[in-house]
Amino acid sequence: MSASCKLRAMVQRTPFRRLLLCLALAVLVAASALVTFQISQRLSLADLQATGRHRLDLYAASLERSIDKYAYFPATLGLESDVIDLLSGGATPRLADKVNRYLEQLNERAGTLAIYVIDLHGHVRASSNWQRSDSFVGEDLSFRAYFRDAIDQGNGRFFGIGTTRSEPGYYLSSALSRNGRIVGVAVIKVSLEQLEESWATAETPVLVADENGIVILSSVPDWKFTALRRLDETTRATFDRTQQYNRRALPPLGVNETASLDKAARLVRIDRASSASVTAYPVTGQFLIQSQPLAGTFWSLNVFSHIERAEKVSTTRAAGAGVTMLLFALLGLMLNERRRLLKERLAAREALQKAHDELERKVEERTLDLSATNQQLQTEIAERVRAEQTLRAAQDELIQAGKLAVIGQLSAGIVHELNQPLAALRTLSGNAVRFLERGNEQTARDNLERIGQLVDRMGQITGQLKAFARKSSGKAAPVDLRQVVANAIALLEQRFRTSRIRLTRNFPDTPLTVLCDGNRLEQVIINLIGNALDAMLDQPEEQRRELGIEISAEISSTPRENAVRLTVRDHGPGLSPEAIARLFEPFFTTKDAGVGLGLGLAISTGIVNDYGGTLSGENHPDGGAVFILTLPLTIEDTGSEQP
Ligand code: ADP
Repeated sequence: MSASCKLRAMVQRTPFRRLLLCLALAVLVAASALVTFQISQRLSLADLQATGRHRLDLYAASLERSIDKYAYFPATLGLESDVIDLLSGGATPRLADKVNRYLEQLNERAGTLAIYVIDLHGHVRASSNWQRSDSFVGEDLSFRAYFRDAIDQGNGRFFGIGTTRSEPGYYLSSALSRNGRIVGVAVIKVSLEQLEESWATAETPVLVADENGIVILSSVPDWKFTALRRLDETTRATFDRTQQYNRRALPPLGVNETASLDKAARLVRIDRASSASVTAYPVTGQFLIQSQPLAGTFWSLNVFSHIERAEKVSTTRAAGAGVTMLLFALLGLMLNERRRLLKERLAAREALQKAHDELERKVEERTLDLSATNQQLQTEIAERVRAEQTLRAAQDELIQAGKLAVIGQLSAGIVHELNQPLAALRTLSGNAVRFLERGNEQTARDNLERIGQLVDRMGQITGQLKAFARKSSGKAAPVDLRQVVANAIALLEQRFRTSRIRLTRNFPDTPLTVLCDGNRLEQVIINLIGNALDAMLDQPEEQRRELGIEISAEISSTPRENAVRLTVRDHGPGLSPEAIARLFEPFFTTKDAGVGLGLGLAISTGIVNDYGGTLSGENHPDGGAVFILTLPLTIEDTGSEQP
């Protein structure tokens, strides 16, 4: 993986990964909240249970104390002989009155609801409330359980509602006997209202249910005489018969168990609508009920602990734990992100350093390569320059060789050209000597003048030849094309004359200045005219004389450049197809050996190209060959306006 790819991969965080992270975070927070909630709930419940147990102990103790206070009270009535006498059948109005008064006083002193004695038939023989209109005296209470229990078992305990005054109370009964024979039953009815009142300040509901599940005592007034359990018909019938609850309706309290924690503790829900009674604590909702049997009775003491507060505390704790976990997780994430960023930054720096090192290494390599290449290039350039110099020298040599070949071709004519004045010189000089001997000085002078002219003419010819033959440098300089053509024609003049070929020149009057080596351009033009002369040699003399060779020049202007176009046209046989194809090929010639080398056009085209020109050859539509040479004109000859 390249450094840049690594960098990109480091910078990229996929949305999927982010989603997973968010999910994990949510799960973590939810789990911590749930666990905290459960632990807190368990602890709160344990707390509640402990408090509940404590309350149970407290309330049970106080209740038992209150009941125990009267436990032996009925039995002590057996110590009173009047009471025993009354029950044993020795009843006289006086005795009954005495016992009534005694029980009344006793009742007042003990603070009980009622104290009365019942004979073996169940009839009340004397009672503390004997003076009241609803006095028990004479009442048949044989149906009461406490009476039968006392007869059967010696003692009876019973909670019930009075049939006469509908006053609820706790009945404690004891069998009274004389000489080991039961003569009756002593009963005291105790009010537990006082105890109830002290419960009213309790922090939670507390109740006492009897063996039938009927709430007989409760800190919540509404709950009294409700049933904790559903009562079946048989039980209800018994209640009707014994009038234990004096035909009270006994509606259900509406306790729905939701969970059982252990034998003595249950979670319940109470939905019972509360009436006008006001309590300092909630009486509906979720509760923990803890029960405990009351010693010496069939009753159970039940303490209700409202768990909603504990639930709320657990929820708050759970929320706190969730938030804390979230904060910790976020802190962790932040630290992790910071660590990751730091790592990425380090990795990025490392990658950058690597890339930088790599770049530096490459630059160094390239620099080395470059210097090697540079050196190689320099060597190559030097070699090429040397090769070009060699080539240039060879070309120069070739051009010179070509020129010498031309001179060779010209030499016969030139020799012929010089021979004539030479012969004339010999004759004129001989005649001059003779005229001087004869004293004809005038004629001798004329001869000598003529000799001088001939020598000048010969000097002119050799001068032209010498100028042409000199080895030129090839350096470009402004030259007038018209002059160059004139020089070339001068050197070929003798050939024109001897071959009787007509020469037609068509040049503008203005100079045609081109930038080139005049000597080399002259060589080109001599070549072209020479070839035209050679081509015309086989033509009939008439044609040679009439048509001959035409040399013309014109300025050709294009938007891009101004050039001079020189055409050399002959009326010879024209160019064969092979000649057209191979015209500028070195050593292509159709001429006899010794006449042509086949280098003329090849060298000429090279020279013309050197100065930015072109050379081409074609057949004229009217016969004969046409060679066209173009060369760029220097600025002053373009005819355009100068700035
Ligand atoms: P050379 O003159 O030594 O043969 P050139 O390169 O000057 O070499 O010419 C090559 C050939 O081109 C000539 O041999 C000839 O066949 C042909 N040629 C050149 N000029 C003309 C012309 N004006 N008419 C016909 N043929 C020509």
